[in-house]
Amino acid sequence: MTLDQTLRQRLDARCRHNLYREVKTLDSVPGPLARVNGRELLAFCSNDYLGLATRPEVIRAQQTGAELGTGATASHLVNGHLQIHQQLQHKLAEVTGREAALVFSSGYMANLGTLCALLGRADNIISDKFNHASLIDGARLCGAYSLRFPHNDLEGLHRQLQRAAGRGGNTLVAVDGVYSMDGDLAPMAEIAGLCRAYGAWLMVDEAHGFGVMGSEQWPLAGSCAAVGLGQSEVQAIMGTLGKAAGNAGAFVAGSRTLIDYLVQFARPYIYTTGMPPAVAAGCVAAIDLMRSEPQLARRLEENIAYFRRRAAQQQLPLTDAPGAIQPLPIGCAETVMTVSAALERRGFMVGAIRPPTVPAGTARLRITLSACHSHCQIDALLDALSAVLRENHAVCR
Ligand SMILES: *Cc1c(COP(=O)(O)O)cnc(C)c1O
Repeated sequence: MTLDQTLRQRLDARCRHNLYREVKTLDSVPGPLARVNGRELLAFCSNDYLGLATRPEVIRAQQTGAELGTGATASHLVNGHLQIHQQLQHKLAEVTGREAALVFSSGYMANLGTLCALLGRADNIISDKFNHASLIDGARLCGAYSLRFPHNDLEGLHRQLQRAAGRGGNTLVAVDGVYSMDGDLAPMAEIAGLCRAYGAWLMVDEAHGFGVMGSEQWPLAGSCAAVGLGQSEVQAIMGTLGKAAGNAGAFVAGSRTLIDYLVQFARPYIYTTGMPPAVAAGCVAAIDLMRSEPQLARRLEENIAYFRRRAAQQQLPLTDAPGAIQPLPIGCAETVMTVSAALERRGFMVGAIRPPTVPAGTARLRITLSACHSHCQIDALLDALSAVLRENHAVCR
């Protein structure tokens, strides 16, 4: 068979199982009104939790940043590192309560690069089964002995720490702070306690925690700070700049030594073109807004509470997810596609999440809330959801 024939067969199989994915082309960023094929849709699927992707102040800062040059023109270690990158890294360290931070071109690269730099064949990596794909791929690629535990199962983590201790080598535990498809939090304080007891290092992916939760002192730092954990308990945190910051890129924050080490050994940092200066400038402006407008995070909290209260009244199948990511379990991939198509006909865009992103039989709608949604928009979504789920007999309880 030719290459194309082989690939066509695999694609056809994906279609038959209702797992074929399509790229939607939008005319602008969904914030929260999006235009798709000339139609206006109300979006409940973006990770722009604070609405910073469309803030005029950020757009202006990014336009001005482009005057430094449209591209970094080389990797950070050659001549692609500008003052604006330095300023961004300094700010990221400051808001996360860490000694230093290092920018990467994406969260995917930051996770891959950090795991591969820190671990080798003699070491152990312990992961939650629901970790983001980038942590899973990093765990594979780094070559360390890979141990997994059932989602948020502390007993399971404990057992794997014992196994790792028996093998020798360094052990790193990697978890998401907020799980991207379930919206639930890792039991961070308990995980950190176990890591301390076993002398294991801890890395937390704060993709969905950075910018929207934290402590009184570090309100933007993420889910670890929210339970009082700092640099000595969580040696490495990864935050993306494509979610609450509404931009692109990512960072790792930790001790000065960790960051010095990553500059030397993180291959996805070393062997790629530096972050465009304009992106760094936009991110600096976005973080300034996060700090000067704490009401944005408060409004998001309020919207989450409102959504959950109203959804419970309408007996929608809510989970315990406390944050901006609100999954509605559906089950089979076919139904989730039918339901999301029906929602789109009614003018709503929500995420339809299927395997392999989530385990088979756990397809779901993934609704994300933003500080920019109005109560009226949330009500409209809930009415449409109730009607569509009823029509499709998709309410499972
Ligand atoms: C989105 C996401 C990433 C990847 O970040 P990008 O900057 O989009 O590459 C990593 N981890 C989690 C948990 C995410 O949700």
